[in-house]
Amino acid sequence: MNMNTSIVIIGAGLGGLMLARVLHIHGIAATVYEAETSPMARTQGGLLDIHDFNGQLALKDAGLYEEFVQLIHHGGQASRVLATDGTVLFEDDDDGTGGRPEVRRGELRRILLGSLPPDTVRWGYKLSHVQALGQGRHEVSFANDETMVSDVLVGADGAWSRVRPLLSDAQPVYAGLALVETWLSDCDQRYPATAQLAGGGALFAVTPGKGILTHREPDGVLHAYVVLRKPQDWFSRIDEATQADALSCLAAEFAGWHPALTTMITASDKAPVVRLVHELPDEHQWPRIPGVTLLGDAAHLMAPSGEGANLALLDGAELGKAIAAQPADIEAALLSFEQQMFVRSAAAAADAKALQEICYGARAPHSLVEMFSAVPASA
Ligand SMILES: Cc1cc2nc3c(=O)[nH]c(=O)nc-3n(C[C@H](O)[C@H](O)[C@H](O)COP(=O)(O)OP(=O)(O)OC[C@H]3O[C@@H](n4cnc5c(N)ncnc54)[C@H](O)[C@@H]3O)c2cc1C
Repeated sequence: MNMNTSIVIIGAGLGGLMLARVLHIHGIAATVYEAETSPMARTQGGLLDIHDFNGQLALKDAGLYEEFVQLIHHGGQASRVLATDGTVLFEDDDDGTGGRPEVRRGELRRILLGSLPPDTVRWGYKLSHVQALGQGRHEVSFANDETMVSDVLVGADGAWSRVRPLLSDAQPVYAGLALVETWLSDCDQRYPATAQLAGGGALFAVTPGKGILTHREPDGVLHAYVVLRKPQDWFSRIDEATQADALSCLAAEFAGWHPALTTMITASDKAPVVRLVHELPDEHQWPRIPGVTLLGDAAHLMAPSGEGANLALLDGAELGKAIAAQPADIEAALLSFEQQMFVRSAAAAADAKALQEICYGARAPHSLVEMFSAVPASA
């Protein structure tokens, strides 16, 4: 690698930005091309718990751990499991010693962006086409008609990666469930019974095939994922309905549940947002192909298990360190990164599948209570 080596990262999600940051602190320049037109183009979603065994390690490698600590939403690690009638089946307070503190995704992205030299991220660059030029180089074309040539191309472009087809034929497949987001603002004043039931952190009310999961956000907002195992076209109807119809159609699936729980649906301030869950094969991998690799969801999309963002951060840091350790032999760096990523992501994908069964399988909610009861609070 020399000073002119062109490292092109597609996607300014947590994984792509972490890679750019770790390369930067090792004195290696890279450019991140992002389809969105600005950092503000889209709200960045709710809280993420960042784990001490993956996401936090990456933030330490990036020299951003102290800034991360300032973002922690104290109290957010508390968790409760409820029966559908509102009975508390399990409860664990946040005593500040847990290994999974919560931060807002947008704030985490902001500290990563702020840690990069100006112009590292090019906004409004949607990758449309890639062509291999041989010897590891690629011609990368964007929807804005600009084209560049990469020496190293990294697909950090999420679930529907345009870089992935260079390496693998795998396509994400619908996992049979969706998470539908709803929100209650000013919950303590407006919906005290729901706010009380939700507690200070996360609430899980689950039964076979469905659940209501809530998170209390720092500004008095209760954010819910309403989870249903249903065919994909059922959710198209929710997407296409008016806000009132969509909410009542969702609520009908929870008939007989405690009203303070169903208020999370019926009283949502905003139209529900459907997030269909897709997955890549658990052991998704590819042979080494010169000059290109993937990280994060582009490499290992899996059902939500609280690990996806953590794995993307870890991948970004590990790839950055691998390149910095062997700048003269990029292929060896990519190979060693991929070999380790394949092992950890296959294990995480299997765990994610098991967690879906624990949450929404035949033994829910008892299976979830057993899982929480078996795990020490600090784990
Ligand atoms: C509803 C939901 C809840 C979740 N909750 C959690 C959680 O609590 N904890 C957790 O750890 N994980 C969670 N995840 C998973 C987590 O969001 C992802 O695993 C993580 O964001 C992956 O990061 P990434 O950087 O690989 O990809 P992304 O965050 O998807 O970023 C990819 C970036 O690439 C850009 N891009 C895409 N295509 C192109 C293109 N053609 N050209 C240029 N740029 C492009 C996108 O605009 C985006 O900015 C959740 C996921 C969902 C859907």
